[in-house]
Amino acid sequence: MIPAVLPSYARADLAIDRGEGCYLYGTDGRRYLDFTSGIAVTALGHCHPHLVKALQEQAGKLWHCSNLFRVPGQEKLAERLVKHSFADTVFFTNSGVEALECSIKIVRHYHYDAGHPDRYRIITCDGAFHGRSLATLAAGRNEKYLKGFGPIVDGFDQVALGNLNEMRAAIRPDTAAILVEPIQGEGGIRATTPEYLRALREICDEFGLLLMFDEVQCGMGRTGKLFAHEWAGVKPDVMALAKGLGSGFPVGACLATERAAKSMTAGTHGSTFGGNPLAMAAANAVLDVMLGNGFLEGVDARGRRFHERLAGIVKRHPSVFAELRGQGLLVGLKCVVPNNPLVDALRAEGLLTVGAGENVVRVLPPLIATDEELEEGARIIERVAARQAAAPGAAGRA
Ligand SMILES: *Cc1c(COP(=O)(O)O)cnc(C)c1O
Repeated sequence: MIPAVLPSYARADLAIDRGEGCYLYGTDGRRYLDFTSGIAVTALGHCHPHLVKALQEQAGKLWHCSNLFRVPGQEKLAERLVKHSFADTVFFTNSGVEALECSIKIVRHYHYDAGHPDRYRIITCDGAFHGRSLATLAAGRNEKYLKGFGPIVDGFDQVALGNLNEMRAAIRPDTAAILVEPIQGEGGIRATTPEYLRALREICDEFGLLLMFDEVQCGMGRTGKLFAHEWAGVKPDVMALAKGLGSGFPVGACLATERAAKSMTAGTHGSTFGGNPLAMAAANAVLDVMLGNGFLEGVDARGRRFHERLAGIVKRHPSVFAELRGQGLLVGLKCVVPNNPLVDALRAEGLLTVGAGENVVRVLPPLIATDEELEEGARIIERVAARQAAAPGAAGRA
């Protein structure tokens, strides 16, 4: 018999009761160090007092009023995102995939408005993940996710990540844009280089394309800057955000320049829930913290120390780990042994992590994690790695 909850997830048999800071508490009474952060979502940990207060206050004031009316929280959040990014304007969504759908519509409409309705194709990179809608599945082109769901939505071409020759060769008269994650999350914490992102900017300018960044996972402070692309000094035309933006409250955003979005007038796009006052209160409270003095610098500094620590573990256990990836608190451990049994073994020791492509274990601590909490996680990783190295297959039996 099919369970009441559609069984479309491969869930661990652990029910979460409550959370506090970097920790989750199971209904089994056990405490877990949460280095999944709900897959890069709970950037400020669980039940951050400033966020709880902001949401409680908003809950007693107004939940929903629709985009029939002006929403002050949207105006405030949009102005702050504009002030701290390349963008001039923002559309609010409830999720990452909706932020990508809006991004795709904006680049297509830009060319339509410029008199080129036939320019609609978007080039993406292998290993990409842009969401689970029909269009974003076509963008990601992951055969596993596409299989069984009918004809693939037209309008997406794919090249190898990091290969500029392939990128140039893939550009056709009907190409509208290039879409990349500055650091691929689901794909296995695969980083691009600053040179690659700068070259994509030049290619887009040369061929009249728009440059789209998907920072749903790598954005919102995770790399030690508000947005990952800031490290490369490159500006996109359109960017999708979600995950960390609400630190656990569902909210996404599509940011764009005036040039890219100027034709998106009344009626061109919409959402019933997007920009809901509760979501805006949560995201504004997140920005209060992230834009506060020294917050991002702190993530960068603790991230660097954590990387140094993990690099030592990878070096000491070459039969378990092949490579350390990522930046800031967006960390990937490419494994020699299968990643998922290792995730299970870490969980058995009280540390929650999440698998990713290319046999990677993703380590995504909340951005508020202290050096001591990061060390606690590192110690568990080292212990499990040592046991695994001593007895290959041990992780599988955990
Ligand atoms: C998670 C993710 C998405 C999809 O976000 P949802 O909120 O699950 O729709 C899109 N792009 C990237 C890079 C992501 O990590």
